[in-house]
Amino acid sequence: MKAILDLIGREWSLEQVSKTLAEAAKESQMSVIGAMHIICADESEFEVCEAFQKNFVYSMLPELKDARAAAFTLSNLGARYDPGAVHVAEHHYALGESTETPKLMVIKVNGHVGIKMVDGLESFGTLERYGLDSACCGALHAMMGGAQGPFVSELKNAFNKDGIDRLAILDDPAQVPPASRSLFVAVSSAILQAEAVADDILSKSPASPTLFWVLPCVTCNRPGEDTEIVCGLIQVDYRKATAERRQMGLGNTPSKYRLEQVDKAMRIREEKGA
Ligand SMILES: [Zn+2]
Repeated sequence: MKAILDLIGREWSLEQVSKTLAEAAKESQMSVIGAMHIICADESEFEVCEAFQKNFVYSMLPELKDARAAAFTLSNLGARYDPGAVHVAEHHYALGESTETPKLMVIKVNGHVGIKMVDGLESFGTLERYGLDSACCGALHAMMGGAQGPFVSELKNAFNKDGIDRLAILDDPAQVPPASRSLFVAVSSAILQAEAVADDILSKSPASPTLFWVLPCVTCNRPGEDTEIVCGLIQVDYRKATAERRQMGLGNTPSKYRLEQVDKAMRIREEKGA
């Protein structure tokens, strides 16, 4: 698991993230490995799906059909968690051998942000799609722009967790630099949705003993190859009757994030007192 912790707060290639996850899963020596991927419906997320499939799912998951494996997947506007889904997914991978020896469930939550080069600098929030400027993530932008609709209501509820108005924080230039807003909304969203998954895991005993790794990540949809920021890791250990939850990495409050460039990669750290 240390290898995963080393990824937190930094931008990496998609391959690096999925391969590190696969190595860590292998080292865990669990009897069965299952996976759930929560992703935005935006077609620009195809690259991160392909990388996860190629470098993790194919090699780590049980065969669903002959030489083919698949993750349980939620794909919707804004990569929202659908309450109850983790229990259905966990039950699918609760195979015979996992009743004797625990299994591992890897749950990857991908928020995303478009990145465009403007005057030699990276600009967050749009990408060139079919030759036109296009909002990315469009669902998160719709929420920030005051649009109405069921998916907006669900996203807004998540952003109001614990009575903190994170949308007001994101809108306040004194708390979040406007240039970083589209990135930070994606980071905060991925963490909030990952926390919702962890809360749901704790609401019901698994079908067989399970160690859960929930990873909030943000895909950077770039003109070249996409990259990915790993925002944290929530471990829920439900291998015994009583579950233990441990959360590592960034928190869910966007005013605390600080963006830096280290060796041509983005790094996000958290200001503790902000
Ligand atoms: Zn999106």
